[in-house]
Formats: sequence, C-alpha cells, structure tokens
Amino acid sequence: MAFTVDKQLLEILACPAQDHAPLVKGTPTDPGADVLSCTECGRQYPIRDGIPVLLLDESHRPGGDEDAQEDMPDGSDVTRADGA
Ligand SMILES: [Zn+2]
Repeated sequence: MAFTVDKQLLEILACPAQDHAPLVKGTPTDPGADVLSCTECGRQYPIRDGIPVLLLDESHRPGGDEDAQEDMPDGSDVTRADGA
C-alpha cells in the first residue's frame, strides 16, 4: 500500500539516536519502503498505520554496524519477519 509521509512532519522528525539526524522516507535500496531511514546512522524505523515509530528498540540497521554497543549475541540465527 502506498503511504506518503507528510513533508512538514518529516521536517520535524529526527532520529532518536545520538545523531538526531533528519530522516528520509524509504531506504537507499528501496525508496518506496514504508520506513524512515536516518541520514546519519542509517537506522530504519517502521511506519505502522501511517505513524512513524521512532523508537530505537523498533529500529534496525541494515547490514552490520560498526559501533555495535548493544549486547548482541554473536550468533547468526537472526529471526527475520518478512512483512510483505
Ligand atoms: Zn540516526
């Protein structure tokens, strides 16, 4: 389903991470994705029912991250929810 983020809303939204960088709609690889991507850290925040969920807990970072400070298990069994 097509979803457009209000431009004014996008202007006031910022990444909840330390960078507080502006967010852009979609991802570098999928500009039409229903997520907001941080222009600084690259975190992606889901948009649920038209509401951007700007929570670090809800975000995910594509690929590996360089500054992995979270206690992530060093396993490779990442469960991935493919929301189609
Ligand atoms: Zn960020």
